[in-house]
Amino acid sequence: MERRGPSGLVSRGCPSAGLSKLGSAGKANATEMKSFRETLQGPAGKVIAGVVVVVGLASAYASYRAGGPSLADQSLRRTFVDAETGQPFPVTLTPDMVVPVKSPFTGRDTGVEPELCYWTADGQPKDVPDPVLLNANHIPPLPGPTFCPVCHRLVIGHNPRALPGMKPPITEADYKAQEH
Ligand SMILES: [Zn+2]
Repeated sequence: MERRGPSGLVSRGCPSAGLSKLGSAGKANATEMKSFRETLQGPAGKVIAGVVVVVGLASAYASYRAGGPSLADQSLRRTFVDAETGQPFPVTLTPDMVVPVKSPFTGRDTGVEPELCYWTADGQPKDVPDPVLLNANHIPPLPGPTFCPVCHRLVIGHNPRALPGMKPPITEADYKAQEH
């Protein structure tokens, strides 16, 4: 099972990055660097290190919230599906989240990100998508292509968003008529 972090998250900066950069910066002036290291090891160094950590955390937090609270919160909300049952459930992404996530339906880590289908049964785009579990992501994997349970149209990995004027995906009925 692929284990990857949720998309769209800002990785947290390493608080010590600033210090190590300063430490490795210079062959230029060894004496200056030595005295800087000595400063860091003293009581003043602890203050400087503390300030660097606080600044690092603050800037990480600032970039995390860059879109403003409501936008940031919205962008962290996802609908996941249970890979065994196909049932959807809401998830708010967190920086340390690992996919698959715990599913409320199985109580185990069977929650995966669905594809989103933006089509209606009569081939029109719509704004609120239906979450679709790909057959390949089903536990156990199911054979054959995936069709949206709502509009019965083909859904693929990285399913494209429906746009006006776009040809809608083939329906399950048409697909089966072609096959047989
Ligand atoms: Zn659909």
